[in-house]
Amino acid sequence: MVPANFHPDAPEDLIPEYRAEMVYECIGCGKSFDINQFLYTCPHCKSLLRIKNKSFSRLKEKPGEYWQEVFDFRKMLNTPSLKGIFRFYEFIFPIIPLDDIIYLGEGDTPIVKSNPELSDFIGREFYVKNDGLNPSVSFKDRGMASAVSFINYMIKKFNIRELLGICASTGDTSAAAALYLSYLDKKIVRSVVLLPEGKVTPAQLSQPLGSGATVIEIPGVFDDCMKIVEDLAENYQVCLLNSKNPIRIQGQKSFSFEIAQQMDYKTHNLVVVVPIGNAGNVTAIMEGFLEFFQTGVIKSLPLVIGVQSTHANPVVQWKERGFYTPMSVKPSVAQAAMIGNPVSFPKVSHLVENYFKENFLAISVTEQEIIEGMLQANRHGHVVCTQGGETVVGLKAALTKKLIPENAKVVVDSTSHQLKFMNFQQMYFEDSYPPEFEIHPRKELQNNPFQLKASASEIASFLKLKKKA
Ligand SMILES: *Cc1c(COP(=O)(O)O)cnc(C)c1O
Ligand SMILES: [Zn+2]
Repeated sequence: MVPANFHPDAPEDLIPEYRAEMVYECIGCGKSFDINQFLYTCPHCKSLLRIKNKSFSRLKEKPGEYWQEVFDFRKMLNTPSLKGIFRFYEFIFPIIPLDDIIYLGEGDTPIVKSNPELSDFIGREFYVKNDGLNPSVSFKDRGMASAVSFINYMIKKFNIRELLGICASTGDTSAAAALYLSYLDKKIVRSVVLLPEGKVTPAQLSQPLGSGATVIEIPGVFDDCMKIVEDLAENYQVCLLNSKNPIRIQGQKSFSFEIAQQMDYKTHNLVVVVPIGNAGNVTAIMEGFLEFFQTGVIKSLPLVIGVQSTHANPVVQWKERGFYTPMSVKPSVAQAAMIGNPVSFPKVSHLVENYFKENFLAISVTEQEIIEGMLQANRHGHVVCTQGGETVVGLKAALTKKLIPENAKVVVDSTSHQLKFMNFQQMYFEDSYPPEFEIHPRKELQNNPFQLKASASEIASFLKLKKKA
């Protein structure tokens, strides 16, 4: 539908007019810095930065119900720049002109209800928000859409002739970065990803290669790659695309905005279950709900439950012990979240201590539970990844501990698609896990192909088919 055909009572902000004054703000010393630059840590104290909208209070001049209506009407528009995460333009990055927004089909992912069998297995009905249905098949596209739209805006605004986008990755950030950067002018933009050798799945390695990025593999784990790109971002002219880049967090908030909209903005008793790796996602999800809450778009904050594997659970340990220490990780099937020292941890602790308080919980699950959570969900109509399996069994664990209110509506985050993590499914089916994973496959969940002769009668007898009368 084109805006001219809307009813005259339709909200006036259908095509966003609002533009904000935005700055980088240090979460440590509180200093703020001009937004028209690429910046990842505070030049004074080296703490993390967040994006501050200095015009945020203007959004409160209209009631929350008004913004609900704006977002609901925008769903009917066919304007590409407003079809993805920028449907929530005013809450994402309201300095970018619509023409500079890169839209590759991200966001607007479905929530799918658990069927009766899966609900029985977990202990209650719930919804899976399938972020595996993004263009590079993970939620990372949400943040990449905002970060690369900003790069596009900066290139035009300052007539930049040369730019190198780089990220370290557990696999999905690099797939998303390589995809979005590949949309920009190759004469100007180079795309580089740094991966821990052997620690990403074959599908994840193939993605940046297919997008034409320069792929560099180094020995070690993700945390080692992260140190190197931090060094590069500190000392060289590169554009960092990890979630340390606060503009990515802006885009990732859309996950919360979509859930709010999909729940008709009724967030009372809402529970959202998410995996935690580098903690960018959970930060963005909490910030998103908080901003909708502060502007009256939703009337209550949900309960956010972060889930981690016992092989990489620094956030769970922080909640249990009351102090934070980085840990060294052990191999995990939830490999995209296998991080011992989450970069965004200071943001998580800030949000939890100041706003979410008892509305944030963290739970550990075992490797065996994670892979079987994935297999169980996918045997009942879903296409979740191992991290999705992690949230599904995280919900089960939370129910066992009686942490979920009776009448709650629960949404679990499947952060990527089943197909990215096929190798872990395969290792389960073939019983070929190295001992460090501590996974012991059970017959009833294994499934392997049968090789039979090309003969209808043989196949019929194998399947014990009954002859037609
Ligand atoms: C990146 C990623 C995570 C972890 O998200 P963080 O923001 O690092 O906490 C979980 N699942 C998938 C599929 C990912 O790609
Ligand atoms: Zn600072």
